[in-house]
Amino acid sequence: MISVFGSVNMDLVAYVEAAPALGETVTGRAFHTVPGGKGANQAIAAARAGAEVAFLGAVGDDSFGAELRHTLAGAGVDVTNLRTVPGPSGIAHIVVEDGGGNSIIVVPGANGAVTAPSAADLDVISRSDVLLLQLELPVEAVTAAARAARAAGTTVVLTPAPVQPLPAELLEAVDVLVANEHEAAAITGQADHERALEELRGTVGWVIVTLGSRGALTAEGDGPVVHVEARKVTAVDTTAAGDTFVGALAAARVERRRPDEAVRFATAAAALSVQRAGASTSMPTRAEIDQSLL
Ligand code: ADP
Repeated sequence: MISVFGSVNMDLVAYVEAAPALGETVTGRAFHTVPGGKGANQAIAAARAGAEVAFLGAVGDDSFGAELRHTLAGAGVDVTNLRTVPGPSGIAHIVVEDGGGNSIIVVPGANGAVTAPSAADLDVISRSDVLLLQLELPVEAVTAAARAARAAGTTVVLTPAPVQPLPAELLEAVDVLVANEHEAAAITGQADHERALEELRGTVGWVIVTLGSRGALTAEGDGPVVHVEARKVTAVDTTAAGDTFVGALAAARVERRRPDEAVRFATAAAALSVQRAGASTSMPTRAEIDQSLL
């Protein structure tokens, strides 16, 4: 089983020719509400990739909260430990300009209320094979979950996003770090991603640096650095490519696939997701991933 202790947001996406300046009002072209949050995205990706998944986190007592719960449950994610707390759900307010540039305001809402894993969360974490963590919940809560997982022998996978200083006690409890090239550079101060990977593997047993359309570098223990090429596809929307990669990677690890095979499985899943618009809706099913690997 995989548990995900993380964020769930409603993304409020407005499409405009040019984003308004302060004090200005503009008319947009279109608007969508899309379930998101890195935690929820990874949970849905893992469930669609065939894993049993439990989501640990919180939504608000507003209509977004009900919808987010419904979306996770509909994807087959166990929401028994998804709490409803007073106040608004987390949201990401996203303005997309013509040409694709965007600006984003994240208001954590209920995610900010998750200041520690509950006793019930800790029970699920200790029974899981893999725990997926990101940094959209308060870092003390993420650290506490990681340490509890480590103590229970649950494999801890961390996506260090949004980038922020990583407490040593968090990194010490991480088994697998999956960073995109920008995150790897920000954490290490090394612009060269091979150097960044070398530095990170000094602290974490298995490090993966994802490189968008150039694939991923993976290094386990003191083994060689392996470059897994991305699949050559026409990308339509790369939103949540990294979250799809992590969810599928975790699903493969629960099945005890070797690290390099797990990275190939994750690469195939991510390539499928970028060929379709949307985040959670673009994540491939297990049958689609298996088919693409034939
Ligand atoms: P993030 O979404 O976190 O920024 P990346 O952009 O590095 O992460 O993408 C994660 C993975 O998704 C890559 O390692 C790759 O396997 C896959 N991917 C991303 N963009 C493409 C693309 N244009 N074509 C094929 N695969 C892609």
